[in-house]
Amino acid sequence: MAVDPSAPLAPATLAVAAGRPARDPGAPVNTPPVLSSTFAAGGPVSYARVGNPTWTALEEVLAALEGPGTRALSFASGMAGISAVASLVPVGGLVIGQTVAYSGTRSLLGRWAQSGRIRLVEASPSTDALVAAVTSGAAMVWLETPTNPTLDVIDIARVSEAAHAAGALVVVDSTFATPLGQRPLDLGADIVVHSATKYLAGHSDVLLGAVVVRDADLAEQVSQNRILGGGIPGPMEAWIALRGLRTFPLRWERACASAAELAVRCQGHPAVTRVRHLSLPDDPGHALAARQMASFGAIVSVELAGGPSAAEAVAGATRVWLHATSLGGVESTLERRRRWPEESPEVPDGLLRLSVGIEDVEDLWADLSRALDAAPRP
Ligand SMILES: *Cc1c(COP(=O)(O)O)cnc(C)c1O
Repeated sequence: MAVDPSAPLAPATLAVAAGRPARDPGAPVNTPPVLSSTFAAGGPVSYARVGNPTWTALEEVLAALEGPGTRALSFASGMAGISAVASLVPVGGLVIGQTVAYSGTRSLLGRWAQSGRIRLVEASPSTDALVAAVTSGAAMVWLETPTNPTLDVIDIARVSEAAHAAGALVVVDSTFATPLGQRPLDLGADIVVHSATKYLAGHSDVLLGAVVVRDADLAEQVSQNRILGGGIPGPMEAWIALRGLRTFPLRWERACASAAELAVRCQGHPAVTRVRHLSLPDDPGHALAARQMASFGAIVSVELAGGPSAAEAVAGATRVWLHATSLGGVESTLERRRRWPEESPEVPDGLLRLSVGIEDVEDLWADLSRALDAAPRP
């Protein structure tokens, strides 16, 4: 990093200043995509499954955002990172998961449990349920907070305390919060995972994952799982993500502000029966989010009076919002989550997940409210 690491720089500065080449005369300002599968003998890296200068630059920024003393490892996708972390569980080890969480994570853990590789207990996505599910000898507690797509908030410090007393590692999928929204490692978690595909890269043009830890042994184990599992990011993808990450704090600030505004407006729309956004004072997650998080995020979940068919109608009727899966891009997207058979049956059938981008908020509301006006109602 070409910045003085002793100066306590703000995240918006670190996102720009970290992960740069040394300021030698004539040096480039950016680390380029290093397209090389092998490196001349005698240097720090021998083969590109083990390391690559472009990843290193990206990882320096990710670690800087997650806090001092952390180490970030980038992966080919969020799921590649999640697989590498879940692989830390010994054969037959007990994992405590959530009945609602990213469908890919639940499917992976579910399949491993079915084949006998791990044991899995799923608890409701609440602090009390998760603490109650932790039993002595558990190997890992897998939290996702805020939860995709229901925006449940889990008390990371409380669950970590119970998990550590039982001897378990605590993993937090922090994709919805981002490193600017919460710092799980400071609250007691051992491992943070991100789908950097979402807000961190931020332009819906790349898949990428990140795992962040503070403990050096854990970092080494996850690194070995990456080297041997092979879920490495391509240098081009790492470079694209790094380019996106430079503007992440600006994008995040805008998207969070617009999401809070749209949540209030949705609450006032007659076609909408329920709005979830952590900024809303009456949201069940608001008080804990206000304590645990630095921002309320940019996902809004709404339920419609007209149920699933109304949700599909709204998703199909917008012209600025794109009807598509995924989230966290500059462009606003929306979808009914239960259109996917693998989504948790606990997610309301008519829940529409809105990923608020960085467009003009008045244009977003005009488009969305027009679609809501036209939605069928009972
Ligand atoms: C998208 C997502 C993932 C998976 O990430 P990929 O980059 O698609 O592999 C994991 N967790 C959450 C919360 C997500 O939203």
